[in-house]
Formats: sequence, structure tokens, C-alpha cells
Amino acid sequence: YQEGGEMMADQAVALITAGASGIGLTCARALSAEGYAVLTMDINATAVSAFKAEFGDQTAVVCDVSDAEQVLAAWGQLIESRGRIDVLINNAGIAGPQQPVEEIDVESWQQTINTDLNSAFYVTRLVVPLMKAQRSGVILNMSSSAGRHGCPLRSPYVAAKWAAIGLAQTWAMELGPWNIRVNALCPGSVGGERIDRVIERDATERGVDPEAIRNLYLRQSSLRAFASAEDIAVMVCFLVGPGGQMISGQTLGIDGHTESLANWLDA
Ligand code: NAD
Repeated sequence: YQEGGEMMADQAVALITAGASGIGLTCARALSAEGYAVLTMDINATAVSAFKAEFGDQTAVVCDVSDAEQVLAAWGQLIESRGRIDVLINNAGIAGPQQPVEEIDVESWQQTINTDLNSAFYVTRLVVPLMKAQRSGVILNMSSSAGRHGCPLRSPYVAAKWAAIGLAQTWAMELGPWNIRVNALCPGSVGGERIDRVIERDATERGVDPEAIRNLYLRQSSLRAFASAEDIAVMVCFLVGPGGQMISGQTLGIDGHTESLANWLDA
């Protein structure tokens, strides 16, 4: 950015869906430090205001990315005037219901699929024509270790995260001839408020001490540790930079090596 938060004409642009907090915001900060103009569409108005205060006035818009029409409207507001997108991170994702498959209601199934999977389609279909015209671009689909291993009681989340990997491979094939690279990222449990909420909820539902659930989750990874949002951002910066030039169609775990996501306390 130039002084006053105005964009420079030839500045590379990164769009991160749901980037106003969590992993997305950490990636936005890292990409901004690398010189990118960073943009987000996020449902949380307070977080969007804070994002604009940090990165500039025209950088964020309140948008529920699970809704194709809202994405189209946000696109008009945010992107069309920029004329380019160099990096897209399809980052939006909610945990969804934690229930046996037969107890999941249709509405929460659809909400999770719309947010975690359909949003990536809604945004990518708009970004690709710009990237094709530039003959360059990087798309990163935020999957999860659940997208490779499965995860009991998380059916719609797993369905969406598994699809994020399939789409990364498919789009890598489709877009490679235009010098557009597409990869899927699989964080394991990331330390922070979100995993704390998941642990609390899981412990309450099972009627056990949250520390037992925390230890259960830690043991799922060979390194017995949660990743940090910074660990994900470092991988993002590597993939968009010179080191990532020949990396496409890959699924990259940032999870200390997940061995299994089986999470039964009594097995
Ligand atoms: P988060 O819960 O911290 O939320 C990040 C942002 O998403 C928030 O600003 C929120 O307002 C926004 N958001 C939620 N629903 C939205 C919607 N419909 N439209 C627009 N914005 C919306 O998320 P996070 O932990 O940073 O996770 C980011 C991504 O990483 C997700 O796809 C998640 O599935 C994936 N992931 C996270 C973890 C983890 O442990 N945190 C692990 C593996 C994968």
C-alpha cells in the first residue's frame, strides 16, 4: 500500500474468504507483509471493520459466502475495480454439527455444505477468468486433516473437506495450462479459540473433563501438538512464492502428521 491505504496500480492482490479473523486473518497479515493487497469477504461486520482499519478502506465487505448472490454482490463491490487476483484462498469453513449421521438435520447439513464447499465454487468461478487473462494465479483450498482421514460425527464437514481436495486436483488439471496452480491445505487441529470451543462442546456432549478431550485430540498427531495459524500462513507464503512454482495438485498437511481422527474415549 501507498500511504493512506491506497492500492498501488500493479500491486499483487490476494482474496481470502472469511479472512477477517482466525487462520484467514493470520494469512492476510502474512501476505500483506509480503507486499500483497489483501481482500476479504466475511460475515462478521465487526471483524470486517477491524480488517478495513488494518488494511485499508476498500479491502473488506460483509458477505455470507454460503450465498451465491451475496458473493456476486460482494465481488462487484470489492474486486471488479481491481482487475486482478493473484492469490485466492478458499478459506471459509464452519465446523458444522457434531452428531451421528442419523441425527443430523437437513438444514445443518446444507448450511455446512453451502459454507464449506459451495462458497469455494461461488468465488472460484469469478476469480478464474481474471487468472486466465493474467496467465497466472494460485488457488488454495482450505481442507482439513478430516478431509483425508474422515472424522466420526462430522459428516457434512468431512464431505466438504474431502471435496476441497478433489476440486484442488481437478482445478489443477483444468487450469494448469494457464499457469494457475491449485493446492489443498490440510491443517490439523489449530490451537486457539476455535479448537477450545470444539473441545468444550465435545466434553459437554460426552459429559467428561475437557482436558481428557484435549489430550485425545493431541494424541491424534504424531507430534502431539496443535499447529498454529502462523504455521498455516508460512505454508501459504511458501506456496505463492518462488519455492512453490512447481507445486500444484497437491494436498499438504500442516498437522504434525495426523495418524487418525478416530476419537473414541473408550476404544
Ligand atoms: P474461524 O471459526 O476462526 O472463522 C474465521 C472467519 O470465518 C470468521 O471471521 C467468520 O466471521 C467467518 N465466517 C464464518 N462463516 C462465514 C460465512 N458464511 N461467510 C463469510 N465468512 C464466514 O475459522 P478458522 O479456525 O480460522 O478456520 C478457517 C478454515 O480452516 C476453515 O475452512 C476451517 O474448516 C479450516 N480448518 C480449521 C482448523 C482449526 O482447528 N481451526 C483445522 C482444520 C481446518
